[in-house]
Amino acid sequence: MKKNKLRLSFPEDEKLHSWLSLLLNAYAIMDEGVKKDIDKYKKKGKKLACYRGCSFCCKTHRDIPVYPIEIVGIYWYVIEKVKEPLRTKIKASLISHKKGEPCPFLIDEVCSIYPMRPLACRQFNVFNKSCNPGEDPFYTRPEDVLKPSEHYLGKALYETTPFYNVYDEEEKVDFINSGRLNSLVRVLQNYPWIELARRMDNLRL
Ligand code: SF4
Ligand code: SF4
Repeated sequence: MKKNKLRLSFPEDEKLHSWLSLLLNAYAIMDEGVKKDIDKYKKKGKKLACYRGCSFCCKTHRDIPVYPIEIVGIYWYVIEKVKEPLRTKIKASLISHKKGEPCPFLIDEVCSIYPMRPLACRQFNVFNKSCNPGEDPFYTRPEDVLKPSEHYLGKALYETTPFYNVYDEEEKVDFINSGRLNSLVRVLQNYPWIELARRMDNLRL
């Protein structure tokens, strides 16, 4: 993969977990693509409305797709990287989280797993004005929602295919285009995160 300034790096962890390099590559591809897409909108006079601490979208959306490698990434990040006092807050949120409730990783109005937030979260950007509480701009003003290039999502997913034991170049494309990879997707808000809360005390990956 060519050098991407947006790629996060955890050299010691990546030596231990080969899947982590795949996931970080995928996120860097997506972040670069989203940045380019946002720049195109800006050139047309649209102003990005998203900012740190603006989080109504994290509460409104209840069906954020998350790929298996992303779930592993979240497990790794929370268990290995998150320090106190955030750690205790995340654990409490995971324990109390019920299926279908808003994302449990939103803590104090900020994404507590920001470096490992799913592809879908990375893609969701809104222009012109911030969302109102409960507003889903997909429905209220779709023209203000970034339509990310499919190209970068495809490239990002392609990067992760060895995690699913798919190595052959042609098979990688088929694995994505046939829907086999999508059939493995879970909904972030429905996932049983209680298991992660248990592991935070007991195990290291
Ligand atoms: S999508 Fe809407 S709620 Fe979410 S950060 Fe952007 S403006 Fe704020
Ligand atoms: S993972 Fe982060 S960005 Fe995505 S919905 Fe949850 S809190 Fe929001």
